[in-house]
Amino acid sequence: MSFPNPATSVKLVLLGEAAVGKSSLVLRFVSNDFQENKEPTIGAAFLTQKCTIGSKVIKYEIWDTAGQERFASLAPMYYRNAQAAIVVYDVTKPASFIRARHWVKELHEQASKDITIALVGNKYDLVEQDSPEDEENNMRKVSVEEGQNLADEEGILFFESSAKSGYNVNDIFIGIGSKIPESK
Ligand code: GDP
Repeated sequence: MSFPNPATSVKLVLLGEAAVGKSSLVLRFVSNDFQENKEPTIGAAFLTQKCTIGSKVIKYEIWDTAGQERFASLAPMYYRNAQAAIVVYDVTKPASFIRARHWVKELHEQASKDITIALVGNKYDLVEQDSPEDEENNMRKVSVEEGQNLADEEGILFFESSAKSGYNVNDIFIGIGSKIPESK
């Protein structure tokens, strides 16, 4: 008789500027749903979701933090004992990419040494139709290369995603889960 593997609990925190789509990514992952005009998160929200990766079952304990700068000083409370972090920016908003770079550096300085981090450029659906000949009117303001280079420099995972279409959302959580060691 075989027993299912016990779930490994993984505390995961989402960080990033307000309105980049952190809550929407969680909603897509947990409920496979999307809301066009989401109310902003105040403080932090907590949700759990199980995810099976091969023979491994991961129970994500997700802390979705508010992006407003006035909450930034509270972030260490959430990432201090997190095993995983998703740092989100909006591919149409350069300032959100600069903020993401700061979050990654802060995590590397202050979070646990073995934290698994994924950098995520969200709202991919808005740039899907961009044309290579029409730089001026393209919505994309952060290139795939810029995202990938930052991730390579920092030795972290990188994805572009869309909470709206669902593109790559599960892959973020599977990618992180694959790097987390199994529970004994
Ligand atoms: P948060 O403040 O980072 O948690 O961002 P929210 O999840 O509240 O999303 C902010 C706004 O962006 C909302 O109006 C969402 O509907 C919208 N949004 C989130 N993700 C996407 C996406 O992938 N594509 C598009 N087009 N809009 C998105």
